[in-house]
This record gives sequence, structure tokens and C-alpha cells, in this order.
Amino acid sequence: MRTRSRRAVEAARGLIEELGLREPSEIDVELIAAYMGVHVSFRPLRNQEGHLLRAGDSGLVVVDEAATLSSKWRFVVGHELGHFMLHPDEDQLHVCTESSLRETGRITTQEFEANDFAAELLMPSSMFGPRVERMGGGPPTIWEVSALARAFDTSLTATALRFILHTQEACALAHVTEGRIDWWARTRAFVPRLRQGAVISEGTLTAAVAAGEHAPSVSVPSEPLAWSKTMRAAKLELFEHAVSLGGYGSVLALLWHGA
Ligand SMILES: [Zn+2]
Repeated sequence: MRTRSRRAVEAARGLIEELGLREPSEIDVELIAAYMGVHVSFRPLRNQEGHLLRAGDSGLVVVDEAATLSSKWRFVVGHELGHFMLHPDEDQLHVCTESSLRETGRITTQEFEANDFAAELLMPSSMFGPRVERMGGGPPTIWEVSALARAFDTSLTATALRFILHTQEACALAHVTEGRIDWWARTRAFVPRLRQGAVISEGTLTAAVAAGEHAPSVSVPSEPLAWSKTMRAAKLELFEHAVSLGGYGSVLALLWHGA
């Protein structure tokens, strides 16, 4: 995982503290925007997720209407509020695309900061961390991450990345499209090194889910060499869980290994 932007995290924490928010259900991004002097509106947009227009101390966030089909719009608003708060000297019109929110392409420091702000605002460490701790040890499932996503009203992928940031377990997350790893993230304790662009091995649960099989209710044992060819990886007791990301044709895989 890359290093979080301390100033972005602190700005979001300060806001949560100032507003006295204690529960995920209290994180109303439109109200928070109003508190900051920012109006939020929804319109069909092309080739962008949202943008920020700034006029003095106030702002207007416009979110692509398509983002309201899921909880993604909340992350877009959080991201634009991050720009509003952290980048006052930026252009009066700041446009953000899907890749600036996904962190997969080469994005600027400012986009990283806006993402860190949004993640901390929507899934504050003070509320998210204790819930991850309560999950305990052992192989996690994406269903458990999905329960967190429902509690925080955030997308499964953003929540899974947050989970990887908070868990002490040896876990990795892989986003797979058309049988290849688009991107992956791991905790410090996770030993195998996956490779971006690598083809997912036949015989893994991830390959089966990509081929249309239903995700099981529990994590299943997985062959370490299917993921990484190193000697150290070969000896691990590895578990795998995977779900289809619906209409996007992608699969999200969660890996775990014992100590
Ligand atoms: Zn942005």
C-alpha cells in the first residue's frame, strides 16, 4: 500500500471531530458539504465522475448522475470536498475522471490526497478500525467486507481497500478483469508478491467466479503457487475468497494466509 497523505487524513479527522460524528449513519456527505459552504448537484457528465467549481469561499460539486446508481457518488463528493479543503490555490474548475478516483493510473499527488480525504471522511479510522478488530483472526470473506460496505454506505472496492489498510492479518486484495490482475494491495504481513497483469490460474476460486460460478459462503484453501512462484509462498497455508463485481465483468479476490 502507498503511504497515506497525513494532511488529508488529518483534515478529514478534524471535520469528523468538529461535527461530533460518532456513527457511520451520521456521515451525511451532502450535509457536510453544506457545512463547508459547498452545494452538491447531480447531472449526466461525460468522461468524468465529478468536478468542483470554486467561487471564493463557496463551491459547487457536480457529480455524474450515473454514480448515484450505487454508493459511489458519496466517494465522489468526498473526493471533491478533499480538493475544496486541501487545494484552495487550484483552478477554479477541477475535473476528476474515473482513473483519478481508482488510483490505478498515474495520478497526481492532489488526486491521492483527495482520495485519502474521502476515504477517511466516509470510513473514519475511529469507526472503521474497531469494526475490523471485532472480525477477529482467520480467513476473512468478502461477505464480511460487504457488511462493512453496507454499514458505511461505501462501494465494495473502496471498503475492501480500507479493510486492507486496517487489518493486522496477512491479507491481500486483487482486482481481476478478463482473467488478469488489474491491481492488487496487501497488508505488511502478507508474504506472496502478486504481479499486475498476471493471468489468474485455472483451478483457483477466482478463476471459477470469473467463469460465472457463485461465490461460496466461506473462504476456501488455495494453492499458493497459483499466485506466486516463490519458495516462501509455496509453504504457506493460503485461503481465497472471491466475488463477481456484477456488471463490470471484474472479480474481487481476497487472499489470507496463516502465520
Ligand atoms: Zn480529483
